[in-house]
Formats: sequence, C-alpha cells, structure tokens
Amino acid sequence: MTLLKTMTAQHIYITEPSRSRTFRAGWVIKDPWTVLENAGVVVAGGHIKKIVAPAPKDASVKDLGPGVLMAPLVNAHLHLELSALKNLLPLGKGFAPWVAALLRERDAAGTPTLTAAAQKAAASLHDMGVGLVGEISTLGITREMLHTSGLTGVWFKEFLGDEQAYPGHEEQDPYIKKQFPLSFSAAGHAPHTTAPQLLTALKKRTRAAGLVFSLHVAESDVEKNFIAGIRGGWTDFLASRGIDTTAWPVGNKTPVSYLHDLGVLDNATLGVHLLHVTDRDLDILAKTGCSICLCPRSNQNLHGRLPDIASLLARNLSPALGTDSLASCDSLGIFDEMAFVRQFYPQIALPDLLAMATINGARALGLGQHGGTLDTGRSAQLLYLDITARTPADVMEKVTAYGI
Ligand SMILES: [Zn+2]
Repeated sequence: MTLLKTMTAQHIYITEPSRSRTFRAGWVIKDPWTVLENAGVVVAGGHIKKIVAPAPKDASVKDLGPGVLMAPLVNAHLHLELSALKNLLPLGKGFAPWVAALLRERDAAGTPTLTAAAQKAAASLHDMGVGLVGEISTLGITREMLHTSGLTGVWFKEFLGDEQAYPGHEEQDPYIKKQFPLSFSAAGHAPHTTAPQLLTALKKRTRAAGLVFSLHVAESDVEKNFIAGIRGGWTDFLASRGIDTTAWPVGNKTPVSYLHDLGVLDNATLGVHLLHVTDRDLDILAKTGCSICLCPRSNQNLHGRLPDIASLLARNLSPALGTDSLASCDSLGIFDEMAFVRQFYPQIALPDLLAMATINGARALGLGQHGGTLDTGRSAQLLYLDITARTPADVMEKVTAYGI
C-alpha cells in the first residue's frame, strides 16, 4: 500500500513500504551535492532501488510534477513531551528562570495535557517534511506515540540527577532496543544535571547495544561555570532537588573536556548545542568522532547566543540540525531551522546547509544507511516539494529557503 499523503498545497510526504514503482519529478536531490533534472526514483520492497535520469515515460511511473523530490528532513533533537509548554515559559531572561518555569509548568500541566499536545506535535512532523527524529523523553510519555506515528528514528529515555535504579539489569532493560524504523536508546540530560557515574553507566549500555547515546553539552553559562568549578547557585539548586554534587569531578574543565575525561565521547555519542567550546574542545570532538546537533533558533531564544557553525564545518564536524522543544522554539520544522541558519550564517554553502538538515542528522542518529539521502538501499520515504526551479543551483536556493 502506498501512502501518498498530501500534507499541504505545497508538499507531499510519500511512504512506499512494499510495492515496486517509480516516482518522477522535475528535479531529484539524490544527496545535497547531486541534483538531477527530470529523474525518477525507483522503489521496491520498502527501499530505494535506484535513480534513473531521464525518467522513463510509461504508465507505471507516478509523475509527481515539475517540482523537487528529495529525502525527508531529519530533526535530530526535539522534545515532543514539552509541546504543551509553548508560549508559557520566559524567554530572554536567562537559563535558570526558564528551567524553574519549565519544571513548574510541566507539573501543572499534568500527563494528559502533555500527552495530547505531544501527540498533536508528533502528527504534524510529516506535514513539515520531517521523517526522521531523535526524540528526547524525560517522562517516557512519547514512546508509544512515536512508535505508532510512522516516524523513523531514535527515542531516547533521558536521565537526570543521580538516580541509581537504572541501569544495571540488562536483561530486564525496558529502554534499550536497536531496531528499525524506531530504536529505543538512553540519553543523559547534561554534564551539570546528570551524575557522572550515571552518564558513564548509560554510555556503557548504549555502546553495548550499538546505539547512539545523546546529551546536551556546553549549552549555558550555568553549565560552563559549574563544570569549571564555580560553585554557587546551580549547586544549591541541585541540592534542593536532592542531588549531592560534592563528589563530581568538576573543576578547571570545559563541558567537553569533562565528558572526554569521563570516557563518554565517541563516534556513537551525539552532543547537542555546543554553544561554549574552545579550540581544544573542537580538537577533542574531531578526534573522538563525536556527532553534533545544533538548535540555533532555541539558542537564540534562550541564550541570545549562536553556535560557531563555521568552526565546526572547518573541522569536518558535520553538524546536524534539531529544534529542541516548543518550550524554546516556534516550530519543530527543519525547513524553518534551515531558513534561520541561512539568515544568520549567509556564508554557509547551501549543500552543506541541506546536509545539516538531512544526511548529517541521519548519521548522527546512527541511521545513515536508512535515510538522509535517496541513495540505493535507503528507506522508500520521499518528500515532494511543489516548487519551480530552473537550474540545480536554483533548486538548492529554493529548498533551503522553503521555510521562509
Ligand atoms: Zn533539548
């Protein structure tokens, strides 16, 4: 059965789980560096078999029109379960007041409200051209809805504080499971919120399962100062929540060097944000092969600061894009995130930007063989944009500006 779902007047999300057929469009973006005119994508058995250019003309070909056919976008970092908090939290007034308000409003909303808003947000992702996600869940309420949403990706159970109940009982582990289209993995929250022994234990579990481990890294001044050893308000805040940090090996470190010392950075770790990084941190990230996800709109709203994307690209760190949650960002759309990056980083080459929105995210989630491009063997999920373009460069121009 083909799901050929018209999402808006402008684009169509296509899932072809089994039938053999060819989808033709005026332009096909095979990958960010390969744009083909008048091409067809041949799918069979739920996978892409090949791309043919020029596209054949026969009755078996589904002609989508003169627009652009491409891989669905990847939102490598979001929190669906915070969707109910949209427009409820203070932005631009510092990180600590935002965190305090988040905890208060999340409790006040209650599980039914959080669940309903998360379901609505999950259902809207295909509408926005997003097909592959890295969902972070602290409360655990989005696991089943993601499973039934038709989305591909990784659902991460996020751990904070110094809870000891998990992990350890591997045969009874309720969270870790590597499978397609949706894996279940674990995430730490951040170096300044999750105890070091818990971070290393979680990393050990995800590593053994061949899954990506994720955490926020180097996002705020609060985090940077705490890891540097400046005790104060944050230590007191954690203590008020019953978390004793006196034995944590912080002091004279950056968040990246701290995590490196703990041994949790490798090519199956996805660090999110990286707003506060030194040259040495960049060397560590490059050497360990750690993946990176950036959420520039959220950073701008929460911290009034943007990541140094040029330095990351210069070291071939290939960042992915995410949105974080609706509690700090206007939408979960990656077309919107691309448009924002174009505006604030006009020097980034457009294929590099589209890679951030597609293949970099798929790879960062350990799903580079399943999505992010229309290469042979990838999942038969396609996105058609009803836009008119004259040249390959014009295609890139219009696709990366589609969210404007
Ligand atoms: Zn986040």
